Amino acid sequence: MTHMPNGLTAWLTDASLLRDAGDFAGAGRLAVRDPATGELVAQVSLSDAKGARDAVDAAHTAFATWSTMLPQKRAEILHRWHDLIMDAKEDLARIMVAEQGKPISEARGEIDYAASFVQFYAEEALRPNIEGVTSHLDDAEMELWREPVGVAALITPWNFPCAMITRKAAAALAAGCTCVIHPSAETPLSALALAELAARAGFPEGVMSTIVGDAATIVGEWTGDARVRALSFTGSTEVGRLLYRQSADTIKRLVLELGGHAPFIVFPSADLDRAVSEAVKAKFATSGQDCLGANRFYVHRDVYDQFCEKFADAVKALTMGKGADDPDIGPLIHERAIAKQKQQVADAVAKGAKILVGGNVDPLGPLFFQPTVLADVTDEAAIMSEENFGPVAPITPFDTEDEVIARANATEYGLVAYVHSLDPRRIYRMTRALQFGMVAVNRTKVTGAPIPFGGTKQSGLGREGARQGLEAFTDIKYVCRDWG
Ligand code: NAD
Repeated sequence: MTHMPNGLTAWLTDASLLRDAGDFAGAGRLAVRDPATGELVAQVSLSDAKGARDAVDAAHTAFATWSTMLPQKRAEILHRWHDLIMDAKEDLARIMVAEQGKPISEARGEIDYAASFVQFYAEEALRPNIEGVTSHLDDAEMELWREPVGVAALITPWNFPCAMITRKAAAALAAGCTCVIHPSAETPLSALALAELAARAGFPEGVMSTIVGDAATIVGEWTGDARVRALSFTGSTEVGRLLYRQSADTIKRLVLELGGHAPFIVFPSADLDRAVSEAVKAKFATSGQDCLGANRFYVHRDVYDQFCEKFADAVKALTMGKGADDPDIGPLIHERAIAKQKQQVADAVAKGAKILVGGNVDPLGPLFFQPTVLADVTDEAAIMSEENFGPVAPITPFDTEDEVIARANATEYGLVAYVHSLDPRRIYRMTRALQFGMVAVNRTKVTGAPIPFGGTKQSGLGREGARQGLEAFTDIKYVCRDWG
């Protein structure tokens, strides 16, 4: 790790001992490797089940003071955390590139995005948390008090290693909860850097603990602990189902932000050039490793050939390389992701698809998969029903609105759908018919701290961001007072 001023250099150097040990070696150190080069970036000490329990003990104790602290004081600490994150933006972006591989401009954008949740919830902490109710009883007055639930367990993935933490933690902390955080094993350094900045911001001991360790062990401790009252998870639908089951015995409040399988639909009434440039963003941001990534492209037959040609040209122009060199596309996170790309391309081709661009691992290195465009992909191809989570774009033609609605909705997922058309009635009908938590019309970027992010069906439960992001971290206490 080279560029880390503001004290982070020293802090990470401490975590970089035993450089020659293997992954999860000895008494528990995790080797963090640069996906672009395979080089060792740092070694992180792993916690065990006792560490996970200790973190809950501390969070449970700290809850008594944090939950009763004046909201203004909590907001002040959150604002300080926000400012420290922004001051350390370049360091955090470089840490992220080193362990996650994304292009540096995207990493910088993620730090802005991550910090925006902290600022938003620092302000939300000050909003009224008592609501009046019009009484239906004589001589009684009624109120709803929103109260923090207790300790919250936050479990995050590697694709947005900072933003997925702040989106959860800032909401939980603003609500008055304390939290224990388990980041992905691929990206512990971003999480530890955020934790270090949180400590400097002045969160009291135990209010926010970040625990790196074997996921099943650490999170298993937390799901089994009745003191953990809320669990917020972002990751795959498969692990989400497991945590849902594990949380049942103690009836935890749940937020599950799970997988997506976004359709990207282009009608003849679309601005085609705009649809193409938005399609490139929707597919290839974060090198395709985005739950909002467009997973399947449905293009009306009247503009199909034109779209395929323009999209293929745009994709050929994308640059690929190490995140630090700021290409359009970086490496994928691990070998499993590469294997999935290979399988999905081979399967689609075997079922009739044509490769217009890419299709292979790139000579740049074993974790670089070429941006790929497949045309004439049939619905039987696995990529039309499985998450791709990589840089492969399958395109298929359609003829009617009803047909494309049925095909777009024929999925267990329901996170986001993209529609391109300039016909207002068509847009209205499509927006109504698509069974997704978010519908983006003629654009790709939809997220932000003030909007409730989340999906329908097996893309998850609950919402993050916005006022709604506080709901899982609060219980409603109904108070009915009779003055007699
Ligand atoms: P993942 O489900 O494998 O892992 C996510 C987190 O769960 C990690 O921290 C991991 O350590 C932990 N985990 C893994 N196995 C566990 C177990 N047995 N018990 C407890 N915890 C466990 O997902 P991933 O590969 O890290 O991330 C990619 C997935 O995340 C994709 O499916 C993507 O769509 C989804 N995602 C969703 C959103 C959203 O907001 N809806 C955002 C980003 C990513």
